[in-house]
Amino acid sequence: MPSSTGPEVVTIPCLKDNYAYLLHDPATGDTAVVDVPEAAPIAAALKARGWTLTDILITHHHHDHIGGVEDLRRATGAEVWGAAADAGRLPPLDHAVAEGDVVRVGDLEGAVIDVSGHTVGHVAFHFPEARAVFTADSLMALGCGRLFEGTAPQMWESLSKLAALPRDTLVCSGHEYTRSNARFALTIEPDNADLRARAEAVDAARAEGRPTVPSRLGEELDTNPFLRAGLSGVKSHLGMSSAADAEVFAEIRRRKDSF
Ligand code: ZN
Ligand code: FE
Repeated sequence: MPSSTGPEVVTIPCLKDNYAYLLHDPATGDTAVVDVPEAAPIAAALKARGWTLTDILITHHHHDHIGGVEDLRRATGAEVWGAAADAGRLPPLDHAVAEGDVVRVGDLEGAVIDVSGHTVGHVAFHFPEARAVFTADSLMALGCGRLFEGTAPQMWESLSKLAALPRDTLVCSGHEYTRSNARFALTIEPDNADLRARAEAVDAARAEGRPTVPSRLGEELDTNPFLRAGLSGVKSHLGMSSAADAEVFAEIRRRKDSF
């Protein structure tokens, strides 16, 4: 492989509609997995590439994101990173982190971002050198996670932090929900040409069995209704022209819950 090869991100379908990701540092050979819905597909993806797992990064405590952590830790000896704030609900952590802390995978450094909302204690990991952010059930392709524990203002703040990253950032999210997210998004912005084109591309990808993730932050900013609650066109479509951004976000989230 040429020495100029940058960090690699590999998407791994797991369970029914979950995704895990590998992040590989070619300089050191270190490899992390972000979330472990189940161990077997991840072990297979590592073996296929001849990579050794060194780190396990956990985004939040739901079973469909951590169910395979202990199997994979036992098989590989990889070190486990997760939110200190959620340590009581996560598998034992070798590294308990909080917003502002740095996660190290070989020479790659990832910033921990608190993205509470779906759960309280949900974190995202932003690796600038890989141009990737691992968001799991916070920012998702054309959607965002349901508010099981946090509040709408909390999720709006979390999404606003992610929205401030560079537009070319890969958004590595946790589920294949994009087709139904697209159908919902079109009810919020029926005239958004970028959204209509993306919805068609999503349908085509799924018809061929291809994942719709990762996406680019730029396309999320242009088409994801949950990032667009502050736009006057969205507010007026909802009859909320004078409402605060977070209130409009809350209304969009409510509508999605019953969609
Ligand atoms: Zn979850
Ligand atoms: Fe999930």
